[in-house]
Amino acid sequence: MISIDFSLAISLYILIFLNTILIIWLVNKKQKDKDLTLEDKFIWFCSVCTYTYINTKEDMISVCPRCGSYNKKIVDISPS
Ligand SMILES: [Zn+2]
Repeated sequence: MISIDFSLAISLYILIFLNTILIIWLVNKKQKDKDLTLEDKFIWFCSVCTYTYINTKEDMISVCPRCGSYNKKIVDISPS
């Protein structure tokens, strides 16, 4: 039988426990980074036909895919 010191066993147990938490945290963090997040600046709201669409290419003015009218970006004042 392998005899180990009690304090060594406790420290090993804590080390393994902390490592497990660290690994779980890192995996969760990686998954969070992979998640597709849609920023508010990509969501456009047509002022003519009230159609809501997504355009990631334009910053200031984009064309509505439904009615073809040009839309200016509405600056959202409320904090997100
Ligand atoms: Zn429209």
